[in-house]
Amino acid sequence: MQLNFFSFPRRFYSTLRLPPTLLLGPGPSNPNPRTLASLSLNTVGHLHPSFLQLMSNIQHLLRSTFKTHNDATLALSGSGAACMEASLVNLLEVGDSIIIGCNGYWGDRVTNLALRHGFKPIRVESPWGQLIPTSLLVDAVKTHKAKALFIIHGESSTGICQPLENLGEICQKLGTFLIVDAVVTLGGMPLLTDVSNIDIVYSGAQKCLSAPPGVSPISFSPRAIQQIKSRKTPISCFYLDIIELLKYWGSDRIYHHTSSINNFYALHEALSILKEETLEASWERHRSVSNLLYDGLKDLGLKLLVDDPSHRLIPLTTVKIPDGIDGKKIQNHLLTNYNIEIAGGFGQLAGKIWRIGLMGHNSRPENVHLLLSALKQSFKDLYKL
Ligand SMILES: *Cc1c(COP(=O)(O)O)cnc(C)c1O
Repeated sequence: MQLNFFSFPRRFYSTLRLPPTLLLGPGPSNPNPRTLASLSLNTVGHLHPSFLQLMSNIQHLLRSTFKTHNDATLALSGSGAACMEASLVNLLEVGDSIIIGCNGYWGDRVTNLALRHGFKPIRVESPWGQLIPTSLLVDAVKTHKAKALFIIHGESSTGICQPLENLGEICQKLGTFLIVDAVVTLGGMPLLTDVSNIDIVYSGAQKCLSAPPGVSPISFSPRAIQQIKSRKTPISCFYLDIIELLKYWGSDRIYHHTSSINNFYALHEALSILKEETLEASWERHRSVSNLLYDGLKDLGLKLLVDDPSHRLIPLTTVKIPDGIDGKKIQNHLLTNYNIEIAGGFGQLAGKIWRIGLMGHNSRPENVHLLLSALKQSFKDLYKL
């Protein structure tokens, strides 16, 4: 991005000049103006009574958003990737095996992390863009008696939503812990942590919650906390140690690290906005707005990567790039001429798909109409179509 510091009036309060961009990629999404405004409130200390109250409110709001009663529900100072790593390093010890559902980039990322930390990944694979049959995952849980099963609920590299079905119940019976990545789904699609017997679930601020990136919700079941407390070896990472973190978030209020204070204001505001709308209404809004997008793309003659509507990741739609079209060129055109950001594919899907996010505050009909018009005009401008 070009930052032109010289052409900017001196009276402006910032040195930065960033063009307003409509973020319709896989994240970040644009925060609600109310959420953005909360960032500029005065910074207080991380142990200030009003900040401690705000932390408790965040925990309360997160429990309703995750649909859980888990006491150990909080937000880490870090992006979704920090929670992914936290879920692994807290629960697993060196040599433990973990079954990982792999049908896109994020399953590969979990495998990479597991290897780095000395855990043994057992990959259950499907082609990118397809569901992993639940029966394959169940078979793996029964065969391997692994410490954990890791599921990416919303695979943002492919646009697939992996159903959780009765995996949690089966895992619990067999002494395996279920970890779920809900970075894309929290707030945008049904996710029922307690009903689905999930042991560790996490998300990010900047997708369907529409808060700025930098803080990330995570929740641990009592069963998971009990297991973590009975580890034989210490948790290797202090920053992500949930037991230490709970001493700050719980009644002890012991300093652990300086939290991302202003980002927590924004997360609180974003969660409050979601509460005002209600979670169920937000799920329904995401569904109906994405349906509008599917119809509009069809009218433009474009095809979706995920055929079966019931397999689709509602907040993130993957579109096949037609033959003869340079996907990156269209993306650049949208960004330069219309200030709209969409993303391309990567890995097995590089150059083959676009990824369009309608997340949180951005999931609105007017954004769909804007994108479809801009897309149509871009095809005209670049390809005379
Ligand atoms: C975006 C994303 C992440 C990582 O989140 P960051 O905030 O970018 O670290 C993890 N999992 C999935 C499925 C995602 O889409």
